[in-house]
Amino acid sequence: MASSSSDTDTPFTPTADELVAGNERFAEGFADQDLQVSPTRRMAVVTCMDSRMDIFALLGLGHGEAHIIRNAGGVITDDVIRSLCLSQRYLGTREIVLVHHTDCGLMLVTEDGLKSELESELGVKPWWAVESFEDPYLDVRQSMKRLEMTPFVPHKEYVRGFVYDVSTGRLDEVSLHTDD
Ligand code: ZN
Repeated sequence: MASSSSDTDTPFTPTADELVAGNERFAEGFADQDLQVSPTRRMAVVTCMDSRMDIFALLGLGHGEAHIIRNAGGVITDDVIRSLCLSQRYLGTREIVLVHHTDCGLMLVTEDGLKSELESELGVKPWWAVESFEDPYLDVRQSMKRLEMTPFVPHKEYVRGFVYDVSTGRLDEVSLHTDD
């Protein structure tokens, strides 16, 4: 989600009709009718909504192999915990992969800055956390710690965290502890 406020000044033309046409072509060659609802790798990936990250391509994942849970930053929020709870309890996943990335849009804002901006414009402060951060590595560790602490995600033996570099396409693994 990297963007600047100048993006909002340029004229905008919606293109959802192109997506509908794209879906027509997709459905003509559709071959996924036999996929099962439970991910075959028994894996859930939590990652950022960033448009530069084609998660299936950059992880070499196939259709039907993993749950992909995305939000701004790939943050472990209550709603992500809700999805992971369902993923593990009802759809059999046992492994969690966190992928944050360099040049994230959440590095452009601050928690207090955005909140007071919204409050002065709208008269109401958001009741949600912005979850801004400066260092994607520290933010992956924060997410791993949140997973450790929640009772709603029971299977945590296989949790790995990574930072994806948007300038090289490479993943860099993050250990839970800062000293290694
Ligand atoms: Zn991001």
